[in-house]
Amino acid sequence: MEKLQNFINGKYCEPIGGQYIDNYEPATGKVYSLIPNSDERDVELAVQAAEKAFPIWSGMSVEERSEILVRLSEGIEKRMDEFVAAESKDNGKPLSLAAHVDIPRAVSNFHFFATGIIHFSSESHYMEGVGVNYTIRKPIGIVGCISPWNLPLYLFSWKIAPALAAGNCVVAKPSEITPYTAYLLGQVAKDAGMPDGVLNILHGLGGSVGDAIVKHPKIKAISFTGGTKTGEYIARTAAPMFKKLSLELGGKNPNIIFADCDFDDMLSTTLRSSFANQGQICLCGSRIFIERTIYDKFKTAFVDKVSKTIVSNPEDPKAKLGAVVSQSHMEKVLSYVDLAITEGGKVLTGGERVILDAPYENGYYLRPTVIEGLAYDCRTNQEEIFGPVVTITPFDTEEEVLMMANSTQYGLAATLWTSDLKRAHRMADKIDSGIVWINSWLVRDLRTPFGGVKASGVGREGGLEALRFFTEPKNVFVKY
Ligand code: NDP
Repeated sequence: MEKLQNFINGKYCEPIGGQYIDNYEPATGKVYSLIPNSDERDVELAVQAAEKAFPIWSGMSVEERSEILVRLSEGIEKRMDEFVAAESKDNGKPLSLAAHVDIPRAVSNFHFFATGIIHFSSESHYMEGVGVNYTIRKPIGIVGCISPWNLPLYLFSWKIAPALAAGNCVVAKPSEITPYTAYLLGQVAKDAGMPDGVLNILHGLGGSVGDAIVKHPKIKAISFTGGTKTGEYIARTAAPMFKKLSLELGGKNPNIIFADCDFDDMLSTTLRSSFANQGQICLCGSRIFIERTIYDKFKTAFVDKVSKTIVSNPEDPKAKLGAVVSQSHMEKVLSYVDLAITEGGKVLTGGERVILDAPYENGYYLRPTVIEGLAYDCRTNQEEIFGPVVTITPFDTEEEVLMMANSTQYGLAATLWTSDLKRAHRMADKIDSGIVWINSWLVRDLRTPFGGVKASGVGREGGLEALRFFTEPKNVFVKY
């Protein structure tokens, strides 16, 4: 069986402890590779390599760093088919999704920050008759990047690319559930001419190797994407060490539909915003609020479309949904369907596991699920499910829907459907979230601030926000 390895100091290597963990293929439920069960000793090796590499990498001109990162981006593009197949196999997502979203976006992430860093500038503040302040932005040093399993290389590269572009050395850990494309990335970085020790990729469990990254005193900043509970633990651990922290956490996003919207556009987009990537995108709209005058029309049309949505193995070009990421995640999602029923919800479609023909009979497939009849403040409507499950709820007034939309602990993203421009702006202003899409969903411009409020996180990624996070500003004053 294939054994993945850590990538430290420009070389693939075994974990010091010699321990490995099973890596499952969600489409079949079978183990198909082994990944290093790394620990603090591997983190120490990676930090030593990064420490040696930092003066070399941060001392290069911005143009030299940019060229290496552009080559890295092109390196992924050249191996597109291999990366696409690996992502789909590791995560269970349809091959077409990995080909159209995940891997192209990883290519763009590196290209965007490789070129963005050339245009990055800092401020000066002139004090009339007194002098001038200018701000220098320097790389932090060694930074830790920890990412989740839902969009593996997409989110891994979203952190690593700005960290490297800004001149930092990186110790990174992908989710243990989806390590494969991060494993491939080491070789691509090497081929792009990245100096040894600049990018170190460690595999293993969050509680051991992830924790060791967060606790290492020489790792000065942590960029983390994952669940809110893990984020809370990381904040508690890192804050007393005065580490810089960027936390992108969970969501329970509202999708608010007014009667005056473009119905067909809304319907097809709502299908995607509910179930893309099996509903395992932090930006999916899992609470759908519909103005009462079109509730029945929406319900009939939506349930009809959802019930016809094809769930199949990731290689099937007809598959709209593939497998969810793991057996335990599948069980968690199904337990929320049971909870919804005990809370008085009615399952309009879905709510069950799908058993496909061999060799996929043990894969983790779920039918997309629509539930109605739940109170806005019940657990099903307040807790993150992170799977192909949405609830539908009618509303009568803007005030009522705003109250329900803002009622959760989360505040990551929201979607609004209306043709009334004034209402769109008014609502966007009042929704508690870091991102609002109006008459659209998941349209991404990499320059914009990305992140959430409340329990959805601290700080923003994307564009200048990311480059600012990965640099330390120093103000210099010169007296006239
Ligand atoms: P987790 O919080 O379980 O894990 C995220 C990463 O952190 C994984 O690499 C995990 O490792 C690691 N980890 C776990 N425990 C620790 C620890 N004590 N110290 C350091 N690292 C640790 O999240 P999931 O992987 O389950 O991802 C799903 C979550 O991510 C959802 O809540 C979703 O909303 C959120 N998310 C947020 C996004 C955003 O931009 N706001 C985007 C995408 C997802 P391992 O897997 O090996 O345990």
